[in-house]
Amino acid sequence: MSKQTLSFQAEVAQLLHLVTHSLYSNPEIFVRELVSNASDACDKLRFEALNNAALFENAPNLEVRVTFDKDAKTLTIQDNGIGMSAQEAIDHLGTIAKSGTKDFMGKLSGDQKQDAQLIGQFGVGFYSGFIVADKITVESRRAGLQASEGVRWVSGGSGDFEVETIDRTARGTSVILHLRGDAEEYLNAWKLKQVIGKYSDHISLPILMEKEEWKESEKEGEPGAMVKTGEWETVNKASALWTRPKKEVTDEQYADFYKAISHDFEAPLTWAHNRVEGNTEYTQLLYIPAKAPFDLWNRDKKAGVKLYVKRVFIMDDAEALLPSYLRFVKGVIDSADLPLNVSRELLQESRDVRAIREGSTKRVLSMLEDLAKHDRHDAPAEGTDGVTDVVDADDKAKEGKYSKFYAEFGAVLKEGLGEDFGNRERLAKLLRFASTTSDTVSVGFADYKARMKEGQDAIYYITADNLAAAKNSPQLEVFKKKGIEVLLMTDRVDEWALNYLQDFDGTPLQSVAKGAVDLGKLQDEAEKKAAEEAAEAFKPVLAKLKEALKDKAEDVRVTSRLVDSPACLVVQDDGMSTQLARMLKQAGQKAPESKPVLEVNPEHALVKKLDGSVHFHDLAHILFDQALLAEGGLPDDPAAYVKRVNALLA
Ligand code: ADP
Repeated sequence: MSKQTLSFQAEVAQLLHLVTHSLYSNPEIFVRELVSNASDACDKLRFEALNNAALFENAPNLEVRVTFDKDAKTLTIQDNGIGMSAQEAIDHLGTIAKSGTKDFMGKLSGDQKQDAQLIGQFGVGFYSGFIVADKITVESRRAGLQASEGVRWVSGGSGDFEVETIDRTARGTSVILHLRGDAEEYLNAWKLKQVIGKYSDHISLPILMEKEEWKESEKEGEPGAMVKTGEWETVNKASALWTRPKKEVTDEQYADFYKAISHDFEAPLTWAHNRVEGNTEYTQLLYIPAKAPFDLWNRDKKAGVKLYVKRVFIMDDAEALLPSYLRFVKGVIDSADLPLNVSRELLQESRDVRAIREGSTKRVLSMLEDLAKHDRHDAPAEGTDGVTDVVDADDKAKEGKYSKFYAEFGAVLKEGLGEDFGNRERLAKLLRFASTTSDTVSVGFADYKARMKEGQDAIYYITADNLAAAKNSPQLEVFKKKGIEVLLMTDRVDEWALNYLQDFDGTPLQSVAKGAVDLGKLQDEAEKKAAEEAAEAFKPVLAKLKEALKDKAEDVRVTSRLVDSPACLVVQDDGMSTQLARMLKQAGQKAPESKPVLEVNPEHALVKKLDGSVHFHDLAHILFDQALLAEGGLPDDPAAYVKRVNALLA
C-alpha cells in the first residue's frame, strides 16, 4: 500500500479537538493511556498465542520500552504485543468503535471544564497522546505477518491521517510522540519514571527504560550531562496489583489502578479486594465508581469486570461475572480454576463462573450496605444506649458516599429486584426514595416502617413522572390529612421494579393509585359510617356518571381518599398505572388497553352540583379529563375539553 491520506471519522475529529482543548490541565494521563494500550496489546498476544504459539515468533518475553530523543524532541512508547495490520491501524486509530459515541458527542456542551469531566467518563485512550504531541507517528506490525507488512500511521491530530506500508522486523507497536514545545519536560528520565511509577506500577509487564549515568564534560569548566549507557532497567513494580497483599497496597495505588482500568478521571467511591478460597478460588478487586459512565443506559452496555485466569488476561467486559444490574462495577477477577482457553459461551455454563458471580454479587452488596450504614452521621449506631458513637477515621470517610452512589446508580440497582430474586431482600433494604416527609431521596423502607402510624398495616407509595407531580397528586390527599407518610417514586423503573416486591419485611407495599383505598384501622368507625352513607346517597348519580363515561372509565365509584379534589383516576389492583402506560406509548410500545376507574369525592362542591344539573354530561366529562390532567396526562380530545370548560365559564 502506498502512502494515502484518509479522514478521521467525524466523532474522532470532534474528540481530538476536545482532547487538545480541554485536557491540557492534566497532561500526564497520556502516559497511563498509552502504556495501558501497550499492555493490552501484550495481553491480547498472550491470549491469541494460547492457540497459536507461532505468534510469539520465538520472542515470548513481553515488555514495554519507553525511550526519548532530546534532539528530535520525540518520546516513544514501544511494545512487542499483538501489533496492527495496515487495515487495523486505519480502523482502530481512525474510528471509535464504542457504542453510544454519537450520543456522547451530543452531550458535550462546549464548556471546557464540563466537557473535561465528561470526557473522563468516556475515555480518550490513544488520542490522549495529542495533549502533549502536535504529531504522532505509529509504526506497527501485527504478530504473524511478514516484515514487509508493517504499517506507518502519521497524524497531526486535526482532520486526517496518513498511512503507508513499511518494512518492520520488530513485532508490535511503537507510538512516537513529537512533543509540543510546552511538553518538553517529558524528555527527562526522572520525570518519566515518576509518572510511570504513579500510573503504571500495577501493570504486570516490565516497563523498561535505558539507564543513564552522569558524565563530566571533557572540557574544563563545562557542565557534565546524563548520558545513556545502553543498559535497560525495569522502572515499574511489574506485579499485577491484585496479586499483591492488601497491606502492601496504598489507597492511592488502588485509586490509580482504578483510573487506569476504567479510564475514569475521578477516584472510586470504594472498593473491595479479596482472595476467595474454597471450592472455587479466585481474587476479586471490585470498585464502585463515583460517577456514572456516559453509556450506563446503553442497552449493549457490558459489565466492567476484566477476567484473568492465573494472571493471564482473558477478556474485558466479562458479563457473566456480574449480573447486569451491577454493570457499573469495575475491576478484576482472577480465577485459579478456569481453563485458559475459556470462551464467552463456556463462561455462561461454567459452575466456577456461577460461584464467582454469586460471590462477587454478594461482595458488591456488602460494600453498598457498608456505605449505607455510614451514610448518615445523625443516625446513631444500633444498641449504643445513649453512648456517644465512636466514629473512626475510616467511617468518617464513608459519610455521604451512599447518597452520592445512589444518585448516580440507584435506578440501575432497582433493576436487581426483577433480575436477582435471591438477593431481593438485601436489595430492597438498599433502596431509597423521597417521601411526603422528605424531599431528598433518603428514605429507606426500614426508616419508613419505623415511622408508621399506629394501626397502619401497609407501606404506601405513589409513582409519578416527577417529584412535583407526585407530591401534588390528589391520591395523596387523605394520607396528608391523616399524617401518613407516602413514598414518592419518580424513577422510570420504579413501577416495573416494584412489581417484583410485594412486601418489605412482612409489611405489604401498596400503591395509593391502585385499587380502592383501604385505610383499614386508620379510619375510625364514625368516618367509615359517614363514607358508607355518602356512597349510598350518591348511588343514583353514580349510575348516571357510569353511563355518561362508559367509553372512558372502567368504573365510577365513591372514595374517601380525596379531600380537596373532586375526582381522581385509579387503576385496578392488578392493572398497569396510567403513568406507565403513557410511558410505554411514548416509547412507541404497545400498552395493554385498560380503562381507569374514576373515583369521585361526594363532599366536593363540583360533585354535589352534578345531581340534577342540566350540564350533567359536560360536567361528567370535565371531571374525568381534569382527573387525567392532574396526574400529568392529556384528555383524548383536548379541544373538546376546552370547549366544555369555556361553555360553563361563559
Ligand atoms: P481503547 O483502548 O479504549 O479501545 P484507544 O483509542 O486507546 O481505545 O485505542 C483504539 C484501538 O487501537 C485499540 O482498541 C486497539 O485495537 C488499537 N491500539 C491502540 N494502541 C495499540 C497498541 N499499542 N497495539 C495494538 N493495538 C493498539
